[in-house]
Amino acid sequence: MHPETTKEKIYGIIPAGGIGSRMGLPYPKQLFAFQGKTLIRHTLNRFQGQLDDMVVPVPAEYMTEFEKEIGHCAHLIEGGSTRFQSVQRAFERLKGASANSLVVIHDAARPFFDPATLPESLDLARTHGAVIYAARVTDTVKRSENRLLIDSTLDRDHIFLAQTPQIFRFDLLQECYAKWNKMAGKPDAVPNADPTDEAGLVETFGHRVALYHSSPDNRKITLKEDLALVQAKETRVGHGYDVHRFDPNRPLILCGLEIPGGPGLLGHSDADVALHALMDAILGALGLGDIGQHFPDTDPELRGVQSTFLLDRVCQLLKDKGARLINIDLTILAQTPKLGPHRQKMLESLSTSLKLELDRINLKFTTTEGLGFVGAKQGMAAHCVVMVAR
Ligand code: MG
Repeated sequence: MHPETTKEKIYGIIPAGGIGSRMGLPYPKQLFAFQGKTLIRHTLNRFQGQLDDMVVPVPAEYMTEFEKEIGHCAHLIEGGSTRFQSVQRAFERLKGASANSLVVIHDAARPFFDPATLPESLDLARTHGAVIYAARVTDTVKRSENRLLIDSTLDRDHIFLAQTPQIFRFDLLQECYAKWNKMAGKPDAVPNADPTDEAGLVETFGHRVALYHSSPDNRKITLKEDLALVQAKETRVGHGYDVHRFDPNRPLILCGLEIPGGPGLLGHSDADVALHALMDAILGALGLGDIGQHFPDTDPELRGVQSTFLLDRVCQLLKDKGARLINIDLTILAQTPKLGPHRQKMLESLSTSLKLELDRINLKFTTTEGLGFVGAKQGMAAHCVVMVAR
């Protein structure tokens, strides 16, 4: 790819050639979308700005789809019939790289790799020529020859589960592939199956591979259940802010309750400033604009409407999106009246309207020390932050 250079470069190989039939999807799992992106895009994004070049072997029959998805940031090639062969094909594309260049091989289905660890593991690869990410075993490990009766308990302090990335100096990997290819077709020379990873290849020829101690979070998505898990993981935040001026001729409505001792607030609806901030926060988290778009104050039907009625409609939108509230944090800014004595009732009212447990709702009150329009007792404001899960 860069025949004349002797400078160290860092290349990525992300094998994505498998169809992943175990997942029960009608297309390769690498194209499954969660949290707004496909699996392959999540994984590639982890390496953004860290590699000089990237080669991705993909299934030949899905070349067009992958090209559309990641063609702008990686060289795509047709994958081989096994992962081992796909990586080897990709490696051939790096022909002419400098001997000291590093090749980072990473599973397409490990989207939780922590990119902040890469500089340290690359250094380890410069020292040892080969390094793999691996996690300590936390379960007790048993060995059974006949798969029925236990022969022994292994010392788990010395057992590691191999992950990726696996990083190699270019010349070491090149040498090992050359030796492997030479032995192919001589059945007694090497183990007859392809190694399950590139570290295995390098080990076959007597090279010691270093361990980079990784976290179990860097897990591989192999089963349908894993996908369900990552899908359920999406959370979003939303923020809302609202202001209403005082109108002494109206009742004061906050969090769906009439608060004695007014003054009230002016507005097209019941002017419940707290619920308005809350609704805007929910709509924000859902990416659905603001309450002005959903309930315009030019709509005569909404004149004097109770904000709890509007909140019901916003909660329905939440449901329609398959989302639920995780928590809300609501702050009301008021110089007058004193709201503290009404806190518990307001919390209970919110809990009932939202069908949300009390411990997921937080309500704060603050004056503004006499400053600004709130301090001058011209009106009230409210801020709200919500988190929703999909
Ligand atoms: Mg409002």
